Amino acid sequence: MMRGRISFVFVLAASLLVSRSTLWAQDLGPQFKKIKEGIYVQSAREANSNAGIIVTQEGVVLVDSGHNPTDSRAVMEAVKKLTPLPIKYIIDTEVHPDHTTGHFVFSPPAIVVNHQGAGDAMRKAENPNRAQTLAAQSPEMAQASQGYRLVVPHIEYQQRMTLRVGERTLELIHLKNAHSEADTAVWLPAERVLFASSVAIPNSLNNVRAFVTIPDILTATRMLRSLNPAVVVPGHGSFGTTAIFDESEKYYTLLVERVGAMVMQGRTRDEITKELKMPESASWAYQDRWPSNVDAAYRAVTQK
Ligand SMILES: [Zn+2]
Repeated sequence: MMRGRISFVFVLAASLLVSRSTLWAQDLGPQFKKIKEGIYVQSAREANSNAGIIVTQEGVVLVDSGHNPTDSRAVMEAVKKLTPLPIKYIIDTEVHPDHTTGHFVFSPPAIVVNHQGAGDAMRKAENPNRAQTLAAQSPEMAQASQGYRLVVPHIEYQQRMTLRVGERTLELIHLKNAHSEADTAVWLPAERVLFASSVAIPNSLNNVRAFVTIPDILTATRMLRSLNPAVVVPGHGSFGTTAIFDESEKYYTLLVERVGAMVMQGRTRDEITKELKMPESASWAYQDRWPSNVDAAYRAVTQK
């Protein structure tokens, strides 16, 4: 008798657990995709930034907080469907507002983490009219951005940091001069899932800023590939495999080679920007970022 009752209770409890943890990603809405058990990504629109949701037995970790406040509030709704546990941490993969504006939706209580220098860069770049600019976009954005304030990282680590939350281990790895003033890749070694930051964005030119160098980008992508991840989630665009790094490396290697050949022929930076064509990346998004790409290759070749 007793045994039957215990097993009934056990089966009931187990089935409740299972129904919660195997919730279909579709139940979260079309913006959300399931990567692995308890790990989801929000990609609201193709060009928007990705936000990662990592559920643990002790609470939730977000990787970035959505492209804008409406996306962030959708992330909040999705988390509420997945678990009653709180969002404990947000790990920033970079400092730019398309990854960080929505922090105010989650913090407090969420603790924000990124590499040293993130807070200074975010304060310096902050648009004092951000709340009004957002509100002017649409009534939905006006509603979602109510209460906006800049939230900079509470914790700034150096080089590497290990975060243990519940049953999961997250390795935070700094990527130097790869995209923004403070870039972090988030590596889950047990799950072999890598949130790779915006160092490589599939089918898109990147904005290669003056402090970013192609050798540093190549160092970062090679290091990330060597982790041997099964799933790679870039800062923007579809998640995939390490092919994302192969594509990026191929592109920058060709770019440096071709810019180098034109420098040897005595061409100036402006001439190269106008004359050089890259058929391999002609269909990629953000062709307006081309001058910054040529500039980075020119710097790499001439050491200027
Ligand atoms: Zn960015």
